Amino acid sequence: MGTGAGTYDLGLPAPEPTASGRRAIGTHEGVRGAMSGHRDLGTVDALVIGAGVSGLYQLLRLRDLGLRVVALEAGSDVGGTWYWNRYPGARFDSESYTYGYSFSDALLDEWEWTEHFSPQAETLRYLRHVADRFALRAHIRFDRRVTSATWDDEACRWTVATEDGSTWLTQWLVTAIGALSVPTLPAIDGRDDFAGPAIHTARWPEDGVDLAGLRVGVIGTGATAVQLIPEVAKVAASLTVFQRSPNWCAPLHNRPIDAEAQARIRENQRDMLRRCRETFGGFLHDAEGEKTTDVTEVEREAFWEQRYAEPGFALWFANYRDVMVSPDANRLLSDFMARKIAERVHDPDVAKRLIPTDHGFGTKRVPLETGYYEAYNQPNVELVDLRETPIVRITAEGVTTTARDHPLDFLVFATGFDAVTGAFDQIDVRGVGGSTLRAAWANGPVTYLGLQVPGFPNLFTVAGPHNVSTLCNMPRCIEQNVDWVTDCISHVLARGANRIEASVPSAGEWTAHTYETVDRLLLSKVDSWFHGVNSNLPGKRRRPLIYAGGLPRYRERCDEVAAAGYEGFLIS
Ligand code: NAP
Repeated sequence: MGTGAGTYDLGLPAPEPTASGRRAIGTHEGVRGAMSGHRDLGTVDALVIGAGVSGLYQLLRLRDLGLRVVALEAGSDVGGTWYWNRYPGARFDSESYTYGYSFSDALLDEWEWTEHFSPQAETLRYLRHVADRFALRAHIRFDRRVTSATWDDEACRWTVATEDGSTWLTQWLVTAIGALSVPTLPAIDGRDDFAGPAIHTARWPEDGVDLAGLRVGVIGTGATAVQLIPEVAKVAASLTVFQRSPNWCAPLHNRPIDAEAQARIRENQRDMLRRCRETFGGFLHDAEGEKTTDVTEVEREAFWEQRYAEPGFALWFANYRDVMVSPDANRLLSDFMARKIAERVHDPDVAKRLIPTDHGFGTKRVPLETGYYEAYNQPNVELVDLRETPIVRITAEGVTTTARDHPLDFLVFATGFDAVTGAFDQIDVRGVGGSTLRAAWANGPVTYLGLQVPGFPNLFTVAGPHNVSTLCNMPRCIEQNVDWVTDCISHVLARGANRIEASVPSAGEWTAHTYETVDRLLLSKVDSWFHGVNSNLPGKRRRPLIYAGGLPRYRERCDEVAAAGYEGFLIS
């Protein structure tokens, strides 16, 4: 493991040594206060924005490369998604043992997941363990929300400023800011009038909330709400779910990992992780070779029954290979799923309202559920279909629809995120000649490999738009991203260069290729966060934000680019 001491001469002023003789990371006493109004000014070789799953690993790799590196984190602890999303029921949709980092054998050997799909608290504990285990905390500054990043072409470095007034100079800048990290509130009249607590799921209080005996309302029925609703239904006096669009949900089938399963996982973990490298979405599950039309109806039904009984994303990712591209095949699968909903929900009218009619199974991100449909059989749970009776306004007492008032004590916004580009929009990123990233992406993101943007040298966008991570078992794709970025920086430095920038034609080609990967799938026809569609952000352009070519193909392209001396990039 590296010490954090720089091994490359980057022509940057070195930080002052600390009392212990080690180089200080971040706060450079010698120039402190040189820029008036700034709390401190640190000079580093590399700066990572975010200390979630991506940021932690990127920090570790750059530190071990020998760079002086700092990570600036908006939260008060590590964890990113798993730090912010603490709502009841929050847990992995990926098998736990396929979600953890794979870079360290020691870490793999020492960590034991307790459930097949780990709950949020355990995942956060894991990420804290990683931060401590690899001595990363010394390099992280918490409660530092980055507000701007400005490129200085002459000095060949970025100036990064935070909300609290600190400023940092860095040659390399990596964003690890998450694809779903900017919560959006519903654009509903009177939203701020509610007298009781009103909380977005991604801002759930750290100490939790006691919902016992309360009248709770939940707006939204996406993957978050689908995890939350059965948990709230267990304790609330009443739960009113305000649904605008039902989703196709598949059973998660979570259970504790018993001793026998633990032993099997220990034995097979590396094989499982190797398999994840080779599957489309980085999961254990992968598409079948057959099409729906290659089999009889009886065989098809039996196959889908089997998949329905399997854990995780089996139904979404390990299905017939035509169900995500052929409308006819998808309709058959959607009909199967509709029958399942009708079987599980007692009241036929409620069941009907829970069955999507505007999109097919898997054409939006599939929520995984544990007792979601059964929650609607409880006497304390009411489904309000906003397509029939829209919300008129939120009042001090609750929610008023066109049908009636719904008095509430507690209101939950499970209303999603400004996906993928939202976190970039919150930072004033200025590249060569002062051009802004917001302007560069005004018509939708333009990137090369989903990792760099022309006009923004030395900036890498881990898990950013058009990057494989956007439709993936995140850590599997994040590790690929981070390893590639680290090798790239290492390559530039080894060549004695200090600047790398994606060329305009290479970004144009990649963006067109990204669109092609999306266009061949049925999901391209359906509005969702995959295309940046969010009714609460009406000004947003609909453009593919994800890369849908799969992990093996993405990795192959990234490796080819690297092997060809970082083809498509300008290195100087
Ligand atoms: P989401 O999928 O965007 O769902 C937001 C929900 O809020 C939708 O049902 C939406 O309805 C509704 N909504 C938004 N504005 C509304 C308004 N003004 N009035 C009424 N309803 C409104 O957000 P999410 O559930 O937070 O999930 C986002 C993503 O996070 C998921 O797709 C997934 O990738 C990720 N996630 C992952 C996990 C996991 O891995 N364990 C868990 C949860 C979430 P419409 O559909 O009609 O717009």
